[in-house]
Amino acid sequence: MKARILDIVRGTTVDGPGFRTAIYFAGCAHNCPGCHNPQSWDFSGGEEMELQDIVDIIYEEDFDVTLSGGDPLYQPMFASALIERIHELGKRTWVYTGFLWEEIIENPLLRDAVSQAEAVVEGRFLETLKNPDLAFRGSSNQRIIDVKKSLETATPVEIMRI
Ligand code: SF4
Repeated sequence: MKARILDIVRGTTVDGPGFRTAIYFAGCAHNCPGCHNPQSWDFSGGEEMELQDIVDIIYEEDFDVTLSGGDPLYQPMFASALIERIHELGKRTWVYTGFLWEEIIENPLLRDAVSQAEAVVEGRFLETLKNPDLAFRGSSNQRIIDVKKSLETATPVEIMRI
């Protein structure tokens, strides 16, 4: 199983709490004006990587994991399989996506993809609500969703609001 990956960073501190291994997926079609990384929109960008090669890198590091991009949920089958493997390694996953939580849970593929993640940082980036002081997100409309609690209660539960 393969996905197109832009980059893998070992030890980032900006994509969720603590040191993390960050996997940046190629491709995004949300077209947010003011996107910090429009070169990540190209679905043919980066390079094709095997699931096992990414798992091996994650295994080597004593870090939790973040999937970002681009938007990893445009490759939902791969994201689902990767999050499952990360979960089996006893590590936690945060997923960054431009999809809203409400859009994710309505789509069985996306819902399945994030079901083993700890958190989903969701929603389009809105330049008018940009705030560099926000923790782990670019604009104040974006929410950090606690996946387990949100699925259990069938309502979006935020992990923190800073
Ligand atoms: S979802 Fe993220 S990567 Fe995609 S256009 Fe919006 S800000 Fe850029």
